[in-house]
Amino acid sequence: MNARDTVALFKLIAKEIEDNKTYLTELDTAIGDADHGINLSRGFGAVLPKLEGEFETVGEVFKTTAMTLISTVGGASGPLYGTFFLKMAGALGKAEIDLSDFVGALEIGIEGVKARGKAQKGEKTMLDVLIPVLDSLKNAATTGIPAKDAFDEALQAAKDGCEYTKTIIATKGRASYLGDRSLGHIDPGCMSSQLMVKAAAAFLGGKA
Ligand code: ADP
Ligand code: MG
Repeated sequence: MNARDTVALFKLIAKEIEDNKTYLTELDTAIGDADHGINLSRGFGAVLPKLEGEFETVGEVFKTTAMTLISTVGGASGPLYGTFFLKMAGALGKAEIDLSDFVGALEIGIEGVKARGKAQKGEKTMLDVLIPVLDSLKNAATTGIPAKDAFDEALQAAKDGCEYTKTIIATKGRASYLGDRSLGHIDPGCMSSQLMVKAAAAFLGGKA
């Protein structure tokens, strides 16, 4: 995957977020403040024109996306996804990357989200999708299966992660104010992460 592919991938992610803006906001209406879809739509809407620039490395595309999300998204998810992509950018300073490069960067990105949000797995945040996705891709990278198959498996892990958040109580972010009333609901940030994995799977599968 080169910088041009990365631009195409982020365009697809932006479309996936836009197509699901209302759904993401509905999820955030149940356990938050009804703005997750609006926040990310604004952020990725601002990313799109920035993707028209020239990029030599994959990391430059991640960095541009990160900086734009940080400066345009007001909610918690802006700095968190911004940190995530910015940390990944630092590990992707190459013209061309493979699955194991991506897995290494993803691990660093997730460490950034954990540090920024002071959260762990099981707290009903985006980490409940991102961490299972990392585990799935890590495993796939060792078996040497094609990246598109790896992302199909990771998408299933993301879906399972979203479903899992219905069964747990939020202990971080706005949803934590609800205590056990957060039970039974999917975490909005998990769903946006799942949509990003869906876009990646579609992109790699040539289905986009
Ligand atoms: P806000 O909560 O400020 O309204 P958003 O609605 O855009 O921001 O994003 C909410 C999502 O952010 C949550 O669903 C959750 O996945 C994620 N989130 C919130 N706090 C944290 C945290 N401390 N660590 C990781 N993710 C978090
Ligand atoms: Mg919100």
